Amino acid sequence: NNHAQKDSYIRIGGGCPAIIGKKLFVQVQRIKAKNKRNTGRYHSKEFYLLTGKLVCDVCGKRMIGNLRFSGRSKTRLATYRCNTHRAMCNNKELNKDYLDAYIAVLIGERLKPKNLRKAVSKVNQQVQKFNSSYDKYHTDVLQQYNEVQDSLANITKAIEKGIFTDDLLQRAERLENEKTKLE
Ligand SMILES: [Zn+2]
Repeated sequence: NNHAQKDSYIRIGGGCPAIIGKKLFVQVQRIKAKNKRNTGRYHSKEFYLLTGKLVCDVCGKRMIGNLRFSGRSKTRLATYRCNTHRAMCNNKELNKDYLDAYIAVLIGERLKPKNLRKAVSKVNQQVQKFNSSYDKYHTDVLQQYNEVQDSLANITKAIEKGIFTDDLLQRAERLENEKTKLE
């Protein structure tokens, strides 16, 4: 379309890969299943393989990763959707696991083994970098959370001893707010 003529964009007609071979389908399902098992990591961050590579066919905006846990069973749902207000575009979001796996298999089929190995190690490097920076972020948040918890425990102790000032209550309220944010 007019919006996305750059060669670096991956074009998928109709927003979803409609016809794929049986072999490819089986491969994608296998990768999808593997992804599902590997996502125990804190249940909050995802590595989006196609970040910056997808453009919405309807509104022309970049598509960005979105993660949520829906329904009563809190089923993990990772998608790509366009970076625009919902009212502005009626395009469907795309299943991230499926699309990442689909593109990975397509690329794998087109690359020579030597180049494929290079590509895989590059992607793995990026994933590792992403994970370690996320690990650091997670550790920092956890530490702040523990500090807030300790402070709140101290305030509770003080109140139990009969120390009950406006200042202390205000502090407790601030800490409670901070705790919620960190959670
Ligand atoms: Zn759109």
